[in-house]
Amino acid sequence: MSYISDVSMVTVQGGYIAKQCPVVIQNRVLVPTEEAESPPEAIHRMDAGIEFEAVTLESLRGEGPDDWVVIPQQPRSTAIEATVDAMGRGAAVIENAFLPIDEEGRRTGRPDLLIRSDAGYIPVDIKHHRTIDEEEGSVLVSDPTDPFYETAYPMEGWDLRKHQGDALQLAHYHRMLEAGGHDSGRPVGGILGKEGLIVWYDLDAPMWTTPAKSDGKKRKIRTSLERYDFEFGFRLDIAATAHSRLEDDDVDLLVEPRASGECDECGFHDFCWSTLELGSGDSSLLPGLTYQHWRHLRDLGITERSQIADLHYPTASLMKSGVEVDVFLELAEGEDPSVSLESLRSRAKKQLLLLDEAGVLTVGDLLKVTDLATVAVGGFTAQRILDARAALGPHPVYRRPGLDEVTVPRADIEIDIDMENVNEGVYLWGALINNRTKPETGPEYIPFVSWEPIDDEVELEVFLAMWDWLTTQRDQAKDNGLTMKAYVWHEPAENYHLRRISGAANRRLEEQVENLIDSEHWIDLKRVFGNSWITGGSVGLKSIAPLAGFEWDVDDPGGGLSMVKYDEAVAEDSKGTDAAREWILDYNRGDVEATSAIRGWLDEEGSDWPEVDAR
Ligand code: SF4
Repeated sequence: MSYISDVSMVTVQGGYIAKQCPVVIQNRVLVPTEEAESPPEAIHRMDAGIEFEAVTLESLRGEGPDDWVVIPQQPRSTAIEATVDAMGRGAAVIENAFLPIDEEGRRTGRPDLLIRSDAGYIPVDIKHHRTIDEEEGSVLVSDPTDPFYETAYPMEGWDLRKHQGDALQLAHYHRMLEAGGHDSGRPVGGILGKEGLIVWYDLDAPMWTTPAKSDGKKRKIRTSLERYDFEFGFRLDIAATAHSRLEDDDVDLLVEPRASGECDECGFHDFCWSTLELGSGDSSLLPGLTYQHWRHLRDLGITERSQIADLHYPTASLMKSGVEVDVFLELAEGEDPSVSLESLRSRAKKQLLLLDEAGVLTVGDLLKVTDLATVAVGGFTAQRILDARAALGPHPVYRRPGLDEVTVPRADIEIDIDMENVNEGVYLWGALINNRTKPETGPEYIPFVSWEPIDDEVELEVFLAMWDWLTTQRDQAKDNGLTMKAYVWHEPAENYHLRRISGAANRRLEEQVENLIDSEHWIDLKRVFGNSWITGGSVGLKSIAPLAGFEWDVDDPGGGLSMVKYDEAVAEDSKGTDAAREWILDYNRGDVEATSAIRGWLDEEGSDWPEVDAR
């Protein structure tokens, strides 16, 4: 691997760094303060992973091949020695291995299992998540009691649930085995996940789509090893450059903080966000701005939201709709303003039609409505310009351009729905029903829940209870001559589980579910919001509901904590069981009350909010 810097001073790194935000390793060199502790939900996830690994290994020991060696917890050098010794004598399986440090590659690593394969070893890691999906295709698997790659078999009707983090970690171990001369010659690695099977990754198979280096628009499919080599090497370069910066202030760092979903659980959140929120705020604070676009803007000197707000919306909008404004401008150069655009490019019929709709017919019109600075940036900015203006404007919410009046779908019987799930399935469907023809009765919260260990049967039982109730409400409303609508916030989450559970049950139920989702009775309120209003920030329920004046009864209503509470709620001998169950129901009730509050707020005030500036 070639590096742009001398990486020899970089501390040896585990494989995890390859899948983390690249700014993390830079901060570890430069930021004098300690990384903050992970939030409880992240710690809970890690603990659950460690426990799953321990339980899995415990159950396998004694079931697998005879020559199964366990490397005990001990100082690093002794553990490495024991691993090398076990590999040297050809042990069949080595549990809790500690690979020799790869000094040149600056790597360290501890695969959960090393499995003997021909002349060497292949790594297997245990992960507390699903690894395969039921769909057309086939996936190569091994039974963990016979974990050898040589006896792996294809499992039809299932496909690999491609998990890039897993693949990069296996690639890290593979490179370490290669560096020490202990690899098997096969670039493969396995993940033992929740299905209890070892699922094999071919690390040399093209699998991951990434932008080609020279052009953000072109895509290339890369192998796991290619992807890993790039990501890991890049991070070593970042760290080496950061070390150089400590010696010399003139050294340019390779990366800068950029807002992403990873920041919420990152130990450098406060440090990075104090930079991101400077001035009018970093452009990455705008929703939906991809890394490629963020980088492109930066290369043009556009770093803050105010600079995006200053761009010209009509130009960006024309470009976004498919008009090659730059090409028309080139053809128009030196032409008389009265010359028609059609005469310059008669074959571009669709684009001419779009220009015509915008009232742009001549060279003069084109020059009047287009802004060269915006043309240079690109049409992808259209939505971002409105977002930036909304985010920096004095009002928390704006109407989208061109919408004089906005309507919110209402009904006599309104039902707000929200589900809670864990990896094993959905354990709670919460519903808030409000009969608006009887205002004196007020809304009622009805949870359909099970605290039994969740499996397919329990999940279906909970689902059917909710489904029977919901369809009864719909049918009764119809019989009584009333309208009925059910509302969710961000339907892909609910729809996915509705379809999955009903599809696994029977065809008739699946069709009934599909009919409801396609009907006027099923409304995604987030989509209603997004089609008519704009805030320039997150449109998550937890961000929008407070704008409507809504507050949750529970502290910290972020979704992550509900996973922690769920484990307490179903624990057999926990003192906190009742409190955790109450917390979950309060939390779920809060979510359905939030969608209800947003709907009322949009209906009452939504038409009065100002229109976002679209000039
Ligand atoms: S806070 Fe965000 S940008 Fe900063 S290191 Fe963490 S993930 Fe990266």
